[in-house]
Amino acid sequence: MHFRVFCGTLVTDGQRYTNVAIRIEKGRIVSWERFDPHTVRITPPDVDARERVVAPGMIDIHIHGGGGRDLMEGTPDAVQAVAKHLLKYGVTGFLVTPLTAPWDAIRAAFAAAREVRQHGSEGAQVLGCHLEGPFINPKRAGAQPPEYIVPPSLQVLEEALGSLIDELRIITLAPELEGSEPLVRALVQAGVIVSIGHTDADYDAVTRAIDWGARHATHCFNAMRPLHHREPGTVGAVLTHPELKAELIWDNVHTHPAVAQMLVQAKGVGGVICISDGVAGAGMPDGYEFELWGHRAVVAEGKATLVENGSLAGSVIGMDTCWRHATQRFNWETASMLCAYNPARALGLEGRKGTLRPGADADLAIWNPACQQVESTWIAGICKYTANP
Ligand SMILES: [Zn+2]
Repeated sequence: MHFRVFCGTLVTDGQRYTNVAIRIEKGRIVSWERFDPHTVRITPPDVDARERVVAPGMIDIHIHGGGGRDLMEGTPDAVQAVAKHLLKYGVTGFLVTPLTAPWDAIRAAFAAAREVRQHGSEGAQVLGCHLEGPFINPKRAGAQPPEYIVPPSLQVLEEALGSLIDELRIITLAPELEGSEPLVRALVQAGVIVSIGHTDADYDAVTRAIDWGARHATHCFNAMRPLHHREPGTVGAVLTHPELKAELIWDNVHTHPAVAQMLVQAKGVGGVICISDGVAGAGMPDGYEFELWGHRAVVAEGKATLVENGSLAGSVIGMDTCWRHATQRFNWETASMLCAYNPARALGLEGRKGTLRPGADADLAIWNPACQQVESTWIAGICKYTANP
């Protein structure tokens, strides 16, 4: 089975093209060809996207749930439900992101991720796991349950996860904690991305962690030591070290849009990765109450807060919101870098995911530029979601 998608606008890899048809064969993009939009005849199974923007499917490397479901439920059913939920945002791949919790719960989330990755997702593809904790600083725990924080230890991690450690792509940890150096070095050696987060590290501690091999920073600005002009903190170190890629929850709630813009300007378009950090309340209406890791949380005005103290508890957005915010401060080309190209590259999937160049998997999002909404989402050349069925 092969067909073409006739793209009025094609945005990929930070570039914009007009009137390009992409040819899809066996789930992959095999070639591009130019066409004349006035004379071309388009018949099924070819797809007419002349009035649309076609872009790579987005990759969310930091997500906890959505649509009322939480990945910490630790069941394949929960993973499938979230995977399907993500399609409406134009997300085609994601990392199941367990957080600080009893090891049994973390293990269950990893096992569920493995099950769905191996046997096939009904929605966005599972690309592995991002473990956010439990080796974090209690002073910067945010909404994570502090009672399950433990000191950094490779032995503890290996014993807890066993062979499931193969699913680990990214780990968020606080590098200033005693014992983190051997853990960071060993994980980096094993090909895991070490991301600095939920941390009180000062500038020098971050610099040391980079020497050990740390390469990411988790939801930059949130749950990390802030910037002061005489004490640059974690934030100042992230802004000035090109080795570190910075995650950004671009919901305009966790960070002011001007600060998000500043981050992209400081790091360059290749240095920032948008994430949703979505929780179970993502995509749910205002007033929706849900259980969030032992607390009650409520959705209101584009955010989720803990009922007991009003503190921010993850986001309720999808990646499409990050994309829109990036287009507002920059443009569609930049959005394609922050939301698709950069996360795919970070995971070592450059050329296969996060791009629509020939050779890539045919994972794409077709946008209606008038309302800036995702209209359909395709995985391996198959339409998995359409906004107007
Ligand atoms: Zn998170």
